[in-house]
Amino acid sequence: MDKKKIYLSPPHMSGREQDYINEAFDTNWIAPLGPNVDAFENELAAYAGVNGAAAVASGTAAIHLALRLLGVKPGDRIFCSSLTFVASANPILYEGAVPVFIDSEPDSWNMSPAALGRALAEADREGSLPKAVIVVNLYGQSARMDEIIAACDRYDIPVIEDAAESLGSTYKGKASGSFGKFGIYSFNGNKIITTSGGGMLVSNDEEALRKTRFLATQARDPAPHYQHSELGYNYRMSNLLAGVGRAQLQVLEDRVNARRAIFDCYCEQLSDLPGIQFMPELADTRSNRWLTVMTINPAEAGCSVSDLLRTLTEENIEARPVWKPLHTQPLFEHTRYYPHHEQESFSESAFRHGICLPSGSGLTEEDQDRVLQCVKEVIAANRLVGHSYNSSPQ
Ligand SMILES: *Cc1c(COP(=O)(O)O)cnc(C)c1O
Repeated sequence: MDKKKIYLSPPHMSGREQDYINEAFDTNWIAPLGPNVDAFENELAAYAGVNGAAAVASGTAAIHLALRLLGVKPGDRIFCSSLTFVASANPILYEGAVPVFIDSEPDSWNMSPAALGRALAEADREGSLPKAVIVVNLYGQSARMDEIIAACDRYDIPVIEDAAESLGSTYKGKASGSFGKFGIYSFNGNKIITTSGGGMLVSNDEEALRKTRFLATQARDPAPHYQHSELGYNYRMSNLLAGVGRAQLQVLEDRVNARRAIFDCYCEQLSDLPGIQFMPELADTRSNRWLTVMTINPAEAGCSVSDLLRTLTEENIEARPVWKPLHTQPLFEHTRYYPHHEQESFSESAFRHGICLPSGSGLTEEDQDRVLQCVKEVIAANRLVGHSYNSSPQ
């Protein structure tokens, strides 16, 4: 294809990353651990307004460690948002625990307090309350943290906040990711800031963070002869990558503003089209708008998500359907699921009708115009011919 490829959410370097890497080379700190790791942890903890942070190899590793810290054992139940990336729930299976999936609600696209309440009440009656609840902040939008934490507090259940996508967002003026017993962030290449790969576990419990660092460095007992009495992991972040993270954190606010401006532009240009709506922003929250997500009502727009995806691909533009709900994934077949209302599964309709548009903070006006033109043309063309739309991706 000759047209330049437009990516969904590519890395966006500031230019200062190289300075940190050079410094690490000059001082020969080419190791997991080192001054950049310590500084990155402190800087991120200060940003999030929490007591401390532990830098690890990925967001997935951070979730896994959070489960270990909470003493999750095989057979324990863990409640988790259904509308999310598989990494939110994989660590549940690493520990042999049993996921139970909770639907989202329309105002935040995140965990439905109604569904969570029903699930907790039922688990309480059955004597099978979960060991933890993993709540996801989807595409940068915070969940209804007050309601969710209040529901969990009634049964004394700790919350792990999967803020992999919501670094830079706020809920009632406080940093997204700072509300649970543990919060986790990801610095994977597609996230709002990146270390190419990496993650962070944050908490106000400094003892737990010490334990995190211990488990993440092979659980080595304090003895010179490499003694181990617990199962550990090699999960620490490299000092080189932490340097990249420090430079990226300095431009986080710019990145949030850029993504929000991209969202506003899509919204302004497309929301008058028939059948098109955009993911809402919950009152009292500020989303980093990691990805711009819109929904297409095929009966009104005359085209489906698959129709639009096909044309965007032909134009060398990367777009994606919304995450396939985990309760519908073959990996999690036969897993229990609590919909928002008995008769309404919000996550399934978000998957059927939602599409993520290119949202990288480095997206140029010209690139965005190409995307906008493409969406407008597909909808106009299909409406003119009364096109019968294809069904959405399964
Ligand atoms: C990216 C992501 C993760 C995992 O982060 P990695 O650093 O890629 O392991 C977890 N949860 C959600 C919601 C994510 O988007």
